[in-house]
Amino acid sequence: MEQKDFAIRNMYADLGITDDVYAFGAEILEGLKERFTQIDETAEYNQLKVLKALQKNQVSEACLLGTTGYGYNDLGRDTLEAVYADIFHTEDALVRPQITCGTHALALALMSNLRPGDELLSPVGKPYDTLEEVIGIRPSKGSLAEYGVSYKQVDLLPDGSFDFENIKKAVNEKTKLVTIQRSKGYQTRPTLSVARIGELIAFIKNIKPDVICMVDNCYGEFVEKIEPSDVGADMVVGSLIKNPGGGLAPIGGYIAGKKECVENAAYRLTSPGLGKEVGASLGVLGAFYQGIFLAPTVTAGALKGAIFAACIYEKLGFKVVPNGTESRHDIIQAVEFGTPEGVVAFCEGIQAAAPVDSHVTPEPWDMPGYDAKVIMAAGAFVSGSSIELSADGPIKPPYAVYFQGGLTWQHAKFGILKSLQSLKNKGIVSKFFP
Ligand SMILES: *Cc1c(COP(=O)(O)O)cnc(C)c1O
Repeated sequence: MEQKDFAIRNMYADLGITDDVYAFGAEILEGLKERFTQIDETAEYNQLKVLKALQKNQVSEACLLGTTGYGYNDLGRDTLEAVYADIFHTEDALVRPQITCGTHALALALMSNLRPGDELLSPVGKPYDTLEEVIGIRPSKGSLAEYGVSYKQVDLLPDGSFDFENIKKAVNEKTKLVTIQRSKGYQTRPTLSVARIGELIAFIKNIKPDVICMVDNCYGEFVEKIEPSDVGADMVVGSLIKNPGGGLAPIGGYIAGKKECVENAAYRLTSPGLGKEVGASLGVLGAFYQGIFLAPTVTAGALKGAIFAACIYEKLGFKVVPNGTESRHDIIQAVEFGTPEGVVAFCEGIQAAAPVDSHVTPEPWDMPGYDAKVIMAAGAFVSGSSIELSADGPIKPPYAVYFQGGLTWQHAKFGILKSLQSLKNKGIVSKFFP
């Protein structure tokens, strides 16, 4: 054994990874070199794309400071929004700490661009859980339904393809906005590639050219070289405590898109008449700038972790979505353990790998809004951040765990090995680790 490898193994051993678990991972990694090179190439491209936008907008030291109070003439905020618009190749962008999370950003984009009597269409099946209450699929105070905005949904076909025939039937004179979720979220459908999103948008615009196409871009940013706004989306929307915050943004959301769409969102976020002109950035701009600068490589690390996990757990005989060889369009990895013990052991391993709160043991609990107990592993610098190494699993069949993040590839790798170690220690994978 080489000296170097020996030193690393010793370090892993110190952190509780046994030789057999390490070797299992090492063998998997051997087969991933080519894919990792491709991921690095995408990261390189996106790194330059972000840098180009920062330079073009002449980001200066003064931009990092921020304002208090009303936030008139906040140079850093306005410049950052121009940077986002350049990265996403859109006319304008709204990037604010006052947008509290991804759901808020999406609700804002929808509620500001729809009016009573309009109809919203999802041609890709049921949207993310939290949007059910925004839309009013699950009755909720203040939902779009309460304001007289109706909703239509066309599910994907069983093979995951678009149901073009029924989408065509669903588009009518009331259809104002089409919402397309890129990531599969907590469903089993495939995540949509940007190219497929482009096909869908072209099809819809061909039927009704003035319809607004919005893409829920959560978890998808920087996974590919292009974004949905490069293939016709009028608005792309996401959370800064996922990919584009690069792990540094402590809060926030963004909406990038057509000037009119972004303007509508700004008037709704602040007030008619005020729009983008107010909204102090307080002290977060440094983190927002540095976060978007790091986001391409952070996303690449998370992506490598997702693929590594898929290959490990696939080899152990568990169902993984996406599988070990599929192309990737977001950073989420699902693993079906089939037993509650598997889900719990996995999450305990992820928690034990965390830089913060590694000494606590996660337990399933009754989370609001869920119909089963959920276990969550998160030892993050930013509370709830899912670009950091994290996992969660509802304790109900098929006993799947959803894994994502890792601010560095090295940490993601360690977390996954730690999860495997946890399963081994509990005798859940005894066929492979006697
Ligand atoms: C995370 C996520 C959301 C909601 O974001 P929150 O920050 O959790 O409110 C919406 N859609 C998708 C696809 C997501 O992954």
